[in-house]
Amino acid sequence: MADCIFCRIAAGEIPATIVGRTDDAVAFRDVNPQAPTHVLVIPTKHLASMTDADSDEAEVALGRTMRLAVQVAKTLGLDDGGYRMVVNTGRDGSQSVGHVHVHLLAGRRMGWPPYPPSN
Ligand code: AMP
Repeated sequence: MADCIFCRIAAGEIPATIVGRTDDAVAFRDVNPQAPTHVLVIPTKHLASMTDADSDEAEVALGRTMRLAVQVAKTLGLDDGGYRMVVNTGRDGSQSVGHVHVHLLAGRRMGWPPYPPSN
């Protein structure tokens, strides 16, 4: 999609620190990291949110996206310490970019459960 920032990153039109790529997915560093390691992994196919993901095509795209996330975690040496993968969806899920993305967070202990924002 021409006006989607993550589609434009996938197409190389907007700079990003790419840490992994396949034909179907791209992994890049989040510009506003919330952990020592914070990578976003996206399908190259535009899916606005997980609510659009109930299709055979999306199943393949997301499976390959998760697989790249797992491979990037391994490449970045995250397997030993572990990590968290998060897919924010819609308003209450605090999704701010309308292209499905898996947050890969690591390098510090994560809290649980995810409490409401304090502000
Ligand atoms: P979410 O709130 O789950 O939709 O997450 C969107 C994420 O995209 C945030 O963590 C932002 O910091 C990140 N982000 C927004 N624009 C860019 C960009 N141009 N390059 C890398 N990360 C970005």
